Amino acid sequence: MTSIRPNRAVRLRDESRYVIIREFPQTDHIRALVLELPGFGDLLTSNIFVLGKGPITLIDTGPKFPNSLETVRSQLNGHGFDFPDIERIILTHGHIDHFGMASLMEKAAGHPIPIHLHRDDIWRTTREYIKEGLWSEEVMDFTRSAGMPEFAIDRMKRRSAFFKHLCDPIDGAIPMEDGEIFSGEGFSLEVIHTPGHSPGSCCLYETESKILFTGDHIIRHITPNPIMEVRKSLLSDPDYQSLRSYENSLARVEDLDVRYAFSGHGEFIDDVKGLISRYRHHHEQRKRQIHEAIRSRSRSIYDLAEELFPGIPESEIFLAVSEVHSHLEVLMNNGQAEVAQPGPPALFQAVGHTSHL
Ligand SMILES: [Zn+2]
Repeated sequence: MTSIRPNRAVRLRDESRYVIIREFPQTDHIRALVLELPGFGDLLTSNIFVLGKGPITLIDTGPKFPNSLETVRSQLNGHGFDFPDIERIILTHGHIDHFGMASLMEKAAGHPIPIHLHRDDIWRTTREYIKEGLWSEEVMDFTRSAGMPEFAIDRMKRRSAFFKHLCDPIDGAIPMEDGEIFSGEGFSLEVIHTPGHSPGSCCLYETESKILFTGDHIIRHITPNPIMEVRKSLLSDPDYQSLRSYENSLARVEDLDVRYAFSGHGEFIDDVKGLISRYRHHHEQRKRQIHEAIRSRSRSIYDLAEELFPGIPESEIFLAVSEVHSHLEVLMNNGQAEVAQPGPPALFQAVGHTSHL
């Protein structure tokens, strides 16, 4: 059923180098489109998956770079399809590198395409949110509380502006739920809500081939960031904590019988359980490192991020701050850290000893 083809070379335009990734195993009903992803650090590629024999279902769309639509069209043509063949788009989550081209594709199709997305991420794709430039007073308050200096805030703002131009808003995304089934010729996909990378992140499990489409929940070559949620006012669960949710979601995926995992970036994964245990090890190490760093004195989130990620590039500042914040939340849940001063900036200190971790 599944044949593995030779390696594919993917050129990253912004770094003038070639990255070789193994081509995805493809079946008669499941195909992968692999796009370049300049400006997104080490994510390597943006992956779109095509299910069915026509009409087709797309999982994710990639971001909207100037030539992306044409690249997707030519890859679709290579499989004998074109945009009018799309009958639905399912988004693994509401980040722009996954939904950016959805509206353009609908226009290119020339007919309405239902776009499905978990309800907890729909706000990210709305006209109103994107018009704000992905920035708000809540984000500003957070940057102050985290002790971020002006230059770092400016860089984060620039980053938001860059993102804003890589997507078109989606009008009327359809909320999807855990357990929902999407089926077509030769496939049946079960929605598995796996919050953590974002509150509405989902994996899609194709029950016959046992392929799990993971979005950014699991990625082979990096440890995905359980991105903290600054916009608490927009969440259905005001107590949402990204790392806690992420760890629960890993456990859920670990219980599935998965032959291959197809992620939104980079190569396919053939050892999901091994990868999850490496993630857990990484998280434990990071918690220990942060706990150790706040034992001798109280520190701000930004101060800790600078120590943990020295020389961090502009594109990664928010992710670094987010990683520290998410681990501090878990340390506080465990009674191993506390707020020493509410600030701004808020300062955190350790409670207890590292050996208790
Ligand atoms: Zn992504």
